[in-house]
Amino acid sequence: MAGSDYQPEILDFGPVKFLRGRRGGRYPYCHSVIVADGEVAFIDPSADQQQCRRLAHDPNLTAVLLSHFHEDHQKYLYLFAPDLIWAPAAEAGAFTSMAGVFELLGIEDPQYYQYWQKTLVKEFHYRPLQQVRTFRDGDELRFGRTPLQVIHTPGHTPGHSCFYFPEQDILYLADMDLTPFGPWYGDRASDINALLASLDRLEEFRARTYLTAHGQGVFPGAEARLALGRFRQVIFDRETELLSLLREPLTLEELIARRLIYRKPLEPAFVYDHIERQMLGKHLQRLLSAGGVKLTEDGYVATGRNP
Ligand SMILES: [Zn+2]
Repeated sequence: MAGSDYQPEILDFGPVKFLRGRRGGRYPYCHSVIVADGEVAFIDPSADQQQCRRLAHDPNLTAVLLSHFHEDHQKYLYLFAPDLIWAPAAEAGAFTSMAGVFELLGIEDPQYYQYWQKTLVKEFHYRPLQQVRTFRDGDELRFGRTPLQVIHTPGHTPGHSCFYFPEQDILYLADMDLTPFGPWYGDRASDINALLASLDRLEEFRARTYLTAHGQGVFPGAEARLALGRFRQVIFDRETELLSLLREPLTLEELIARRLIYRKPLEPAFVYDHIERQMLGKHLQRLLSAGGVKLTEDGYVATGRNP
């Protein structure tokens, strides 16, 4: 619920505005971006219920954009008229049916499946849309005189998209969020190699200001480019640690129990079992195909060859 002590922080970059999410934009919230240039557009409506409600009633609002389908980016999407909603073409199915969401998540544990169906409806107000407007890589949308360019950056999810505002030289990175935790690829549909290619592409930008959906939220260009490098490095650090654990053979189940990704036990355990399984499983696949690990009767073991 909206507490009276909460003062939303809104930073102005001309017509592009950064709306800091509740709890510093930590899950289940995220930071949002507003474009107000006569026409109003709203990106990732999950910062704060009152602000979202206010924008949902703004007669100049013409579009609500989602960087990707994750629930913590659409907590308050239900407040908005369905015909205003835009999503990445590559994951439109997750907006039109819950089955589409589960197809991308890849949840197989029946306990988790049930829990997550309930959570999506109760906490994130999930409702399937009849249809959704879609954008693709390179599309340019315009709100008043402010253009927005779509940069498709798959990996975190298949449709994950960043938005570039050429007039303000601002790049919104969404969940390429530059947090010390590093990149997240815990869905079945997540893809490490695609993510690395997306990070390469983002590192080529020389924007003046970068915005993210979680964490610090606002970065001057030089700082963001350093942070992007560190963010990318986390993937390789995880791999190095995994290889050192695999000096003795370990099964995937044993690795999951080590909580190499989250570093500590978190509840409900079946949620984090799933994420660790997905993320470590993707690393193991990468290492198998590069020859850095092999699968034996006792589990995965490092070959000693540097992948
Ligand atoms: Zn996400």
